[in-house]
Amino acid sequence: MTTTLLADIGSLVTNDPELGDGSPLGLLRDAALVLDADTGTVVWLGPADAAPAADSVVDAAGRAVVPGFVDSHAHLVFAGDRTAEFNARMSGKPYTAGGIRTTVAATRAATDEELDANLRRLVREALRQGTTTVECKSGYGLTVEDEARALRLASRHTPETTYLGAHVVAPEYADDPAAYVDLVTGPMLDACAPHARWVDVFCERGAFDGDQARAILKAGAERGLIPRVHANQLTEGPGVQLAVELGAASADHCTHLSDADVDALAHSATVATLLPGAEFSTRAVYPDARRLLDAGATVALSTDCNPGSSFTSSVPFCIAVAVRDMGMTPDEALWSATAGGARALRREDLGRLTPGLRADAVLLDAPSHVHLAYRPGVPLVSAVWRGGVREV
Ligand SMILES: [Zn+2]
Repeated sequence: MTTTLLADIGSLVTNDPELGDGSPLGLLRDAALVLDADTGTVVWLGPADAAPAADSVVDAAGRAVVPGFVDSHAHLVFAGDRTAEFNARMSGKPYTAGGIRTTVAATRAATDEELDANLRRLVREALRQGTTTVECKSGYGLTVEDEARALRLASRHTPETTYLGAHVVAPEYADDPAAYVDLVTGPMLDACAPHARWVDVFCERGAFDGDQARAILKAGAERGLIPRVHANQLTEGPGVQLAVELGAASADHCTHLSDADVDALAHSATVATLLPGAEFSTRAVYPDARRLLDAGATVALSTDCNPGSSFTSSVPFCIAVAVRDMGMTPDEALWSATAGGARALRREDLGRLTPGLRADAVLLDAPSHVHLAYRPGVPLVSAVWRGGVREV
């Protein structure tokens, strides 16, 4: 065994309601935690003064420890950036260049090494900010070879890989979207399915309508991929209802919801994943987390990290925005960014700190997790363990 004792934790968030104060966060005061790098799991937690011996000791000195963040929605396989587009948007100037097509062209032109280096850099950047699990989508290749390549590369960094050939209609198929859907549900799916766990569709006006999205998600499901949906981001479209109908793990964005959409989410196992980085970076109205929570829906919080509409890898930033502008309490936002993300990825082994589960933990330079929202923009992540191994 190679064990690490995190001693003298002032405030330990376990996300196990059976523990601690009885809240959903399962908060323990004056606690200790033992992580095992060999099994990758938590092996002990309890009162600080009852902590067992371990191979090494880290003194938390009264600071807070939280589960590693689970970022269940990110687009990290791409080349180039969209600085000019963002600058124009924020300067109130019209922007006529290619948008997503710019990224597709740059991604297709990049070598495997270039894409992998960018991906590695972004995963590391996220890890430094406390993200120990990140989902990663394809969707900037939009050819059979380029989509399969994106997923092959992504699977080197995470098991949570998502086939998003249906991000937008590939430029070559602009005049024949039905033929592109045939490609996405046929040869492209054949090439991508071996490298993916999930299938996703951008169900939105200008991308894929409800019938196209249903066909794509069902084709993916027949190949063993589990559906998740980009739903109701820009308009009150059919995405949320479709996600619930197909038993998708998650409906992502959920910015524009009817009462029926909220009700459907509240009475299903489909998680509502909110992505405030997208609204922040496009000066759009934020999703109403309070409305979803009050209705009883399960809410996750993720970055949507991508070069166009949300170029942040920071979950703490998303937590701060969710608390400030989306009606979430600091406790709810932290739960959604950890246990909620795990729920959206259907991972029972993540998002909580209890014996037997993954030893993914973050030591904050703060006495409480509330500081993640209280001190926005401050780099509070002091140390990160993934599978019991110290990474930061
Ligand atoms: Zn997205």
